[in-house]
Amino acid sequence: MEIRIQPVDPRQMRPKPADETKLVFGRTFSDHMFMMDYRSGEGWRDARVVPYQSLNLDPAAMVLHYGQGIFEGLKGYRWKDGSIHLFRPEKNWERFNRSARRMCMPEVDPGFQTRALEQLLKLDKDWVPHSLGSSLYIRPTMIASEAHLGVRPASEYLYFIITGPVAAYYAEGFNPVKIYVSDQYVRAVRGGVGEAKTMANYASSLYAAELAKKRGFTQVLWLDAVERRFIEEVGTMNIFFRIKDELITPPLTGSILPGVTRDSVMQLARHWGIHVNERLIDVHEVIDAVKSGDMKEIFGTGTAAVVSPVGEISYKDESHRVQDGGVGEWSRRFHDHIVAIQYGEEEDVFGWIRQVMV
Ligand SMILES: *Cc1c(COP(=O)(O)O)cnc(C)c1O
Repeated sequence: MEIRIQPVDPRQMRPKPADETKLVFGRTFSDHMFMMDYRSGEGWRDARVVPYQSLNLDPAAMVLHYGQGIFEGLKGYRWKDGSIHLFRPEKNWERFNRSARRMCMPEVDPGFQTRALEQLLKLDKDWVPHSLGSSLYIRPTMIASEAHLGVRPASEYLYFIITGPVAAYYAEGFNPVKIYVSDQYVRAVRGGVGEAKTMANYASSLYAAELAKKRGFTQVLWLDAVERRFIEEVGTMNIFFRIKDELITPPLTGSILPGVTRDSVMQLARHWGIHVNERLIDVHEVIDAVKSGDMKEIFGTGTAAVVSPVGEISYKDESHRVQDGGVGEWSRRFHDHIVAIQYGEEEDVFGWIRQVMV
């Protein structure tokens, strides 16, 4: 399929951020976006790169009523030589299509998603920031656009990619977060849509997140929906525990989002000879290990932060410091190594890096 290019009128170009280190995540967007439409029986059509703009959606568009929508999140990194690179984008395209199948939506060819992004970045390459640790956040999205009230899979969809520059996550240093175990509200349930990057999961997480914030915590630690016992995720990140010298992360049982960073941390850990265990972990085991001092580190993983150390954990109104509340040795090592690979400063032994041809 051909991609039509409609560049923005130079007079309409958006101002580039004055200070790349002060960008607030998700507020600044680049000049262009990629879009294409789908109609059942016809497939995807009218692929185009156009000026960043509002969508033209009917108020009866099915995504607005029934939540049939999915997205992805990845980043473009600028290397010292000026070139732009992606980190394991094929994992995002593959997960996008898994989410699409779960939500009864059409798939998008992975090779085409790469080409669409490349065409977009050809016009917006100057939006990939230069300062160390900053990057261009990339948000591929698909929504049900058919105007129809009545619950069934839509017959029309809109796929788009928007991008925007983001500052280094740890501009003010590696800051351990305080997390709150939610034993009243759950994020997702086995057999539900927790393993899909679909909008409903984020809407359902808001209430518990606000409660946690009111109590002075930054993230919610989610437990399984049935027994409220087994650890699932932290906020919108996967979670790891280091108990003595074992690295533990919950298995992908259906209610957990399979993170690219989660997979990368596990591969790196195995490469370094660390004993990694994907297993169920009970919240009581976590609290006991924190109390006894066997819990050396807890950290979340995700594209935005790469690694987010946990300094404090609250369960049943009792708060516990993890070690001295600082940053663990492994947390720092995983973070620094993955970031170094992303910026071309460390050898890419796993073949994770893809250069963007712009
Ligand atoms: C996106 C996401 C993650 C992290 O996935 P990455 O691919 O590592 O960015 C983890 N949990 C949830 C709920 C997510 O939405």
